[in-house]
Amino acid sequence: MPGFERFGEQECKEVQDVLDNGVLMRYGFDGMRNGHWKAKSLEEELQRVFKTEHAQLVSSGTAAVSVALAAAGVGAGDEVIMPTFTFVASFEAIIMLGAIPVLVDIDDTLTLDPKAVANAITPKTKAVMVVQMCGSMGNMDALQKICKTNGLLLVEDACQAIGGIYKEKPLGSIGDLGCFSFDFVKTITCGEGGAVITNNKDYYINTDHYSDHGHDHEGNDRGAETHPFLGYNFRISELHAAVGLAQIKRLPEFLEVQKQNYTIIRAALSQIPEVTFRTVPEGGEESYAFLNFFLPDLESARKASKGFKENGIDVCFHYYDNNWHYVRKWDHLKNATSLYPVSTEIKKGLEKISSNAYEQSDHYIGRNVSALIKLSWTEEEVNARAEKMVEVIKASI
Ligand SMILES: *Cc1c(COP(=O)(O)O)cnc(C)c1O
Repeated sequence: MPGFERFGEQECKEVQDVLDNGVLMRYGFDGMRNGHWKAKSLEEELQRVFKTEHAQLVSSGTAAVSVALAAAGVGAGDEVIMPTFTFVASFEAIIMLGAIPVLVDIDDTLTLDPKAVANAITPKTKAVMVVQMCGSMGNMDALQKICKTNGLLLVEDACQAIGGIYKEKPLGSIGDLGCFSFDFVKTITCGEGGAVITNNKDYYINTDHYSDHGHDHEGNDRGAETHPFLGYNFRISELHAAVGLAQIKRLPEFLEVQKQNYTIIRAALSQIPEVTFRTVPEGGEESYAFLNFFLPDLESARKASKGFKENGIDVCFHYYDNNWHYVRKWDHLKNATSLYPVSTEIKKGLEKISSNAYEQSDHYIGRNVSALIKLSWTEEEVNARAEKMVEVIKASI
């Protein structure tokens, strides 16, 4: 997945352009720029690649999720439904706005279970956040239907699935707003960065102003700009955008390599009858950033995970026992451990997370291994890795 594995001349050239004119900020300083607008150019590329009318770059993927929710008016006391299996950014972005994260089970797609979403809707629910985890996607038709019927916003976090497709639409472009991360380990990297994409012009204008202190961006005198509403600073810098501009042009190349490597490993693992793979919804094509498979039970998954480590097979994650991506180990969230007071509404909401059992999520995450697919492996390395993985798995079941 990480685009940094293939840094080259293009990235250097784009960054050098910015250093040559010295304008590291994305807004203003028109005269000094020599025509270089890296953030603006990257936004145009994002619109093209993700077939969406508007794109707004921000400082991170976490900022993207928060800005997307804020742009659509999600705030204090609103409930946002999100999955138990995701990155901590999902609930951070919600809590930051004073909204309440409502965690619900995933299914065998490793993303939101539409039934669990439907059951979690209350009069306070404002949005559903689908997280396209580990290169694949949720059942978007079912989720869209639920949102439409109940008048809810659908926000799509496609940070880990850049390049994946659902029924001919790029992931990220399906919900009312889509979010990407370009942090250092994502398929396309800026070092740090993120983006919100949408076809809704009002939401777009809100993202543009909100991510830059509420500036209206009218004219070219920053001091004279008005602030139609409150905002914050979630700006990306020109240096970061320059790296992303080089990387986005290489997305087809990255996706092709991911697919090749994924296909070799999947074919090898398919020979083991006890191994099954995550369900990809009908009409979906993964980004191939990860190969996700299930072992028969928690014990065999733990054994295999240990075996991979002992045999030098890195980047294979058993998220059940990992602090990153699964609700089981998010004690700081469950206990609402915060540096500053949080609202009683949020506290009450978070208490529910501890009392929920999430047995269905345990059933899938306990048996799941997510194998990251790297871009830098040679074909020989991939073949050797696949062979070793098969050995370790056979010894674990
Ligand atoms: C990486 C990631 C984010 C946040 O991105 P940052 O740029 O690191 O803030 C959000 N959601 C998911 C699913 C991610 O993988």
